Formats: sequence, C-alpha cells, structure tokens
Amino acid sequence: MSTLTVVNQPAEHTDTYRRDPYFEGAPSKCDATRYKIYSIEDAKRLFRGRDVYIWGAGQKGRGFLLALRRCGFEAKGFLDSNPQMVGTEYMGVRVYHPDQTLKVPDAGEKVFVLTATVDLKNKEIFATLEQEYGFVRGRSFENIQALSPLYPTIEVTGLCNLRCSSCPRSDASMLENGKFMSYANYERVIHKLVREIPFVYLVDLYMWGEPLLNPEIADVIRLNNSLGIASGLSTNLNNVRNLEAAMEAYPAQIRVSLSGMSKETYEVTHTGGKWDQVSKNMEFLSKVNEKFGNRTIVELYFHLYQHNLHEVPAIVELCKRYNFRFHPSLAILLHDFPLAYLETGRLPESAQAAKDRLLIDLDTLIDDCEKQTDRNCILTRVAPVINWDMSVMPCCTFAYTGIARSYLEISLADLLDRRTYSSTCASCQKHALHRWNDQGYYSGYVQNVVKNAVAQA
Ligand code: SF4
Ligand code: SF4
Repeated sequence: MSTLTVVNQPAEHTDTYRRDPYFEGAPSKCDATRYKIYSIEDAKRLFRGRDVYIWGAGQKGRGFLLALRRCGFEAKGFLDSNPQMVGTEYMGVRVYHPDQTLKVPDAGEKVFVLTATVDLKNKEIFATLEQEYGFVRGRSFENIQALSPLYPTIEVTGLCNLRCSSCPRSDASMLENGKFMSYANYERVIHKLVREIPFVYLVDLYMWGEPLLNPEIADVIRLNNSLGIASGLSTNLNNVRNLEAAMEAYPAQIRVSLSGMSKETYEVTHTGGKWDQVSKNMEFLSKVNEKFGNRTIVELYFHLYQHNLHEVPAIVELCKRYNFRFHPSLAILLHDFPLAYLETGRLPESAQAAKDRLLIDLDTLIDDCEKQTDRNCILTRVAPVINWDMSVMPCCTFAYTGIARSYLEISLADLLDRRTYSSTCASCQKHALHRWNDQGYYSGYVQNVVKNAVAQA
C-alpha cells in the first residue's frame, strides 16, 4: 500500500486559514467569486413580467423549473427542437417546438427565454435565438447559469463498496472511509444553500461515496424536490437495497458508472464490483424507472479503456433496450493520481490496472493539460463542495481536503475566497491539473472511438 499523503490535509479552522503563498506570484485560475448570484428581485427585473420559457427539457431545464417555482415564478413552457420531446410534459409544463412560441411578431417583448442545456448546445441555441428569432442576450434571453452560477456538491455517503483502480478510494492512505450524512444535517445544509443561492436548481449528491448506500437517500431526494432542487446521483449499482425507494422519491438523473459489459472487463477496473450483480441491477433499474413512469433520466456513463472497446456495441444496444442514455467518456485516473505522479514520480499500486489500460497514456494526458495551462479551471463553478461531515472542501475531484470545518459556520463568500487561494488549488494549478479530465477536449476523439467500435461490430 502506498504511503502518499500529498493532498490529505485536515480541514483548516477559520482563524488559522491562510492563502497559499503560490498565489502571491500567480493569479488563481479557479475564482468563483467573480460570479454574480441572482436574487429574486434581480430576476424580476430581468423577466419584466414576460412569459418565461425554458429552452431544454433535460436535467438542467427540469431542475431549473423547480427553482423558478421556489422563487415564486412559473414557466409557461419548455422549448425543445427534438421531435420526441415536443408535446411531452414535465410536472405539468408542456414542451413546445421553438417556432411555435418564438416565431411571432415582437416575441422578445412577450417572452423571456432561459437556456438550460450543456455548454456546447447552449452556444448553438444562443446563435439560433439571435439569428433566427432576433432575441438579445441579457434582454430577451439568458442562460440559467447567469442566475445560479454555481453547482453545489454534497457528499451524502462518505464511503463506497468498491475500490476502482482509477479512484483514490482504491488506496486507503489517500482516502479513508467516512460515514453517512444524516438527514437532519442534510436539512440544515440545504436550507443554508437555498438562502445563499436563491436559484440553486441542481445538487449532486456524490463525490467519493456510493449515494445509494445512505439509508436516508430517498428522504434527501424528496426534500430536494420539495424545495425545488433536482438531485443528481451517480452509482456503481452493485448494491440496490435503497434503489427502489430512491427512484420513487424521483431524482432528476441517475448515472450508472460502468467500465465493461462482462466479468473479464468490468471487474478489472471497477475493482470489487461484480458484473453479474450489476447486469441484473441494470435490468431492475430499468423496470423500476418504468414503474414510476420513466421520469428519471438514467445515464450510462461508460469509461472507455483499451480492454472494453469491443463491448461498446453491446452497451449501445443495452441502452436502447432499457431506455438509458449512453454517455461514453475517456477513462482517466482521478486527480490525486496524476498529482502524486507529478510530485513523487510514482503511482500507487492500486492505480496500475487502470493506468495500463488507458486509451491515452498518462504522460500525454498531462501534456494536454500543460497546453491549456493558461485557461481557467474546468471546475470553477463546482462549489461549494460539502463533505458527509459538513466540512467543506476546495474541490470535488481531489480526495478529502478541507477549507472549513462546517458549512454551517461560514458564509459562501468566504468559502469561495478560501477555495480560490487554497493549497489544494495551488498544487493543482502548479501542474496544470486544473485542466485535467476535460472531457470536452476529447469529445471528438471519443466520438470517433465509439464510431469505430460500432463499425467493427
Ligand atoms: S469510482 Fe466511484 S464506485 Fe469506484 S471506488 Fe470511487 S467512488 Fe466508488
Ligand atoms: S483543485 Fe480542483 S477546484 Fe482547484 S484548481 Fe484544481 S481542479 Fe480546480
């Protein structure tokens, strides 16, 4: 077992917190203090009493509908150009084709559009709104990120049943097992979050833990829904004891993380996981989702490694059969490993299985980050990051480090300032790892890999 302790630091106390000296000579590339957080009054001024439509009826759009309602607004409809979505409804709100609503005289005076899709798609929608419908950003449309610029993460389960080779969970010296966040503590955390970010619409309930292990997970999801916050879960789906209750509570999205479609592939990189079990549990998840009306978006997040490419066609088929969304991604080692490698010249034993099977080798991935070192951190908006014990961490992707003992005892503004100049961000940015795991950078590559894998089937 490795004895690396590169980033395993205790939470710092308010009175002992110091900015990392690294930032005396370099500006931080992860500064979320620059984002304005909208109040309800700010939003009233923006909408000017017009009908509000949300462009995008996926996870983000659905989540934002709930946040609007919490803040006293209603959406007149969703907009979506996908013919499969047009005519459907979510929580009583209908999906329209954009032409139905926006191709009318003076539409910009009657309608305000909030765009709610992933970044690349948002850019296309901005162009369509401006060029086809004559809308103006900031006057007749805006991205929901402008109102709620942060993506909070709350770790409801500080432990996991697997020890994946790409994850710091595989090495107990990097990441020890914690406990569950109790419902009572979750309630305290989420109420403060809503006060600090009035339009918060989505909270991810995981980092290094398996959220479905938490026996109160369904209550947490229900509480979020009652407050107008969509819940995002990610699961390895090896233990489904609480799955049906969680699905009944209605999370907006559940991601299933997979790295193979057989014992021979899956169990090499999802260390400790059992393929037969996961395979059965996927069928169960599909049935349970169907039972509750297929309300939850189920995403199959497939980590592409050398050893599992031949299984891509099978996973595509499975997604069709079970009504899951296929989300291929380039497998990587999570941040603690490249940092350890860069600082000590070696990797913990546990990461070797994943490293040996990467499609793009570790040194090339590191070089790719260095090429982009001047750019901002891809996780700047992911804050605050709250651990199962309510301590606050600077980053959702480095194993537990602390910037405050309790989220309840410190303002969001102070937390963002601490994160910006934290030692974790300093050591990360020193090595350009603030660009690590930028899946957007590899999206063309991933598409080609998938296309070729399917063509060879
Ligand atoms: S990657 Fe996820 S499932 Fe695997 S050990 Fe880490 S937290 Fe657990
Ligand atoms: S530690 Fe995390 S939040 Fe900080 S710069 Fe690195 S990736 Fe960004």
